[in-house]
Amino acid sequence: MSVTTNLNQIRAEITAACLRVERDPQGIRLVAVSKTKSSAAIAQAAEAGQKIFGESYVQEFLDKADEVHQPVEWHFIGHLQSNKVKYLRNRVSMIHSVDRLSLAREINRQWKNLERPLDVLIQVNLGDEESKSGVSSDQTADLVREISALPHLRIQGLMALPPYCEDPEDVRPFFRRLRGLADEIAALELPGVNMGELSMGMSHDFAVAVEEGATLVRIGTAIFGARN
Ligand SMILES: *Cc1c(COP(=O)(O)O)cnc(C)c1O
Repeated sequence: MSVTTNLNQIRAEITAACLRVERDPQGIRLVAVSKTKSSAAIAQAAEAGQKIFGESYVQEFLDKADEVHQPVEWHFIGHLQSNKVKYLRNRVSMIHSVDRLSLAREINRQWKNLERPLDVLIQVNLGDEESKSGVSSDQTADLVREISALPHLRIQGLMALPPYCEDPEDVRPFFRRLRGLADEIAALELPGVNMGELSMGMSHDFAVAVEEGATLVRIGTAIFGARN
């Protein structure tokens, strides 16, 4: 299957999921997760109309971004060490994986002299899985409040990477919880905090995520094929 065919198929499935729950497909942005994939594969997806690409590893991202000449937008979605934030400065339009104050402070410092604040999402560890990044659900509101005081980044919502389940229906409760948490935080009406974006859903479960309110779906394998 070609990247173009895969993209068309995914777009059709997103639209179908939207129809089931009466959502406007325009409200969902597809992030093509291109980690480990070549710049040629990215260029091919860009030629097919794909605009946003998600990367997880800083050095790999820097190497490939220089080789992609289409006007694409880059989102950083992986675990991020504070000492690497400087390399992303002015090169990404969103970071989905902000999960601690020290990281947010470093982003704030790096974006200080730029024209626009950086859009960020707070990554929540819904299953309290030890192996995964993310702030726990019960500490999310406090972290959002602390980060909201930093002027050079703007919280736009939440992101989660729920436990893998063979049956996507088993992930539905996690998606629902992320949405519920975003609603709770929105109700606090913290100044400068937006909870409109929900980054959730990957190749095998994005249709369920869309039904549960995802606004950003992060899809790799279903577009580019399996990673080695
Ligand atoms: C790799 C990755 C994805 C994409 O996973 P697929 O199953 O290949 O669609 C999505 N989100 C994050 C954070 C990832 O690291």
